[in-house]
Amino acid sequence: MSRNPTSRSTGARSGAATPGGERLLSVESLSVTFESERGTVRAVEDVSFDVAPGETVCLVGESGSGKTVTCESITRLLGDGEIDGTATFDGADLLSLPESQLRDYRGSRIAYVFQNPQNALDPVYTVREQLVEAIREHHDVDRAAASRRAVALLDDVGISNPSTRADEYPDSFSGGMRQRVLIAIALAGDPDLLVADEPTTALDVTTEAEILDLLATIQRERDTAVLFVTHDLAVVSEIADRIVVLYGGRVMESGSATAVLERPSHPYTRALLRCLPGRGGRMEPIGGEFPDPTEPPDGCRFHPRCPHAVAACRDGDQPPLYAVDGDRDRVASCVYHADGFHTDTVVGPLFEEDDGERDGETRSDDEERDGETRSGDETGEQFDGHESDSGGEQRE
Ligand code: SF4
Repeated sequence: MSRNPTSRSTGARSGAATPGGERLLSVESLSVTFESERGTVRAVEDVSFDVAPGETVCLVGESGSGKTVTCESITRLLGDGEIDGTATFDGADLLSLPESQLRDYRGSRIAYVFQNPQNALDPVYTVREQLVEAIREHHDVDRAAASRRAVALLDDVGISNPSTRADEYPDSFSGGMRQRVLIAIALAGDPDLLVADEPTTALDVTTEAEILDLLATIQRERDTAVLFVTHDLAVVSEIADRIVVLYGGRVMESGSATAVLERPSHPYTRALLRCLPGRGGRMEPIGGEFPDPTEPPDGCRFHPRCPHAVAACRDGDQPPLYAVDGDRDRVASCVYHADGFHTDTVVGPLFEEDDGERDGETRSDDEERDGETRSGDETGEQFDGHESDSGGEQRE
């Protein structure tokens, strides 16, 4: 069993965008709250990440993890909600720009593709009319030039016979073709960053693969950065350069796609991966319930569902983002990456540890039934039989 002698909290940052540090978008300490009848909803808290030019960064997590709110906050698309932090795009903080200046970025340099293409196009206008409007919104061109550009964009996104199909209404397009049209509209402003929020959720598997191929082609040919929102790690494995895993509005883990997928180092990421078919021959749903955003648990947001939770996980705030394996671009918000903990518990093979995890779950459940009256030392005994002098947190 190895220890993690080099671990160190990196603060709120979840890694530089590239080894060279070039950044197109830099989100720092983003927090978003909403007022509701049930109280203040803490949708996103202290989220930081970077996107480099031409890079694909995937925000991953279950429904309600804060992915969409994070993306929509960047250009202040949220109708209401209190936003704190910064979102620096090409040197300008989008969160503090006047609305009039923000329009120069929203939809042009930063474009969005949303899920559910069935409802996103206006049924009473032809595809050409909708594209021409989008093009003229971002470029000072006459209708004839915009119309030619509309056909070229439809061709770019793989619509066959584009000059004819441009004059059809959205109803005559399939779901996959509508999503292609929406991507064409998003490209109308020649964006530097494409934000794609679950763009394949409503599509069948074959069409999904085609849309992912299209996004990859666009990125390659135009050097467009992509911020991709999904709950589906299978999709992530196809397209991501970097991954940011969110849970309960907090960053759980971040790093290169290769590192996170091959050596997931946070119990939540590992639980997500175990939900995938084809890894280890079985699927395991994540037990427990998602936290109430109006009353998130103290300590680690994931602790009520985490089979490895110890006393230190239940108090205070979310653990800081610790460097994993001494790599500051690879971080995880889990106490097991703090000095003195054995990291093997949260970085070993996904399925070889299953028996141990089920044991851990049972013990955690017992603790909950005891009303969490056990001392930290007792909690600490579940790992290697060594009592600690700090509530079970220190490991030998
Ligand atoms: S071990 Fe603790 S800090 Fe790590 S994920 Fe589980 S509950 Fe969170």
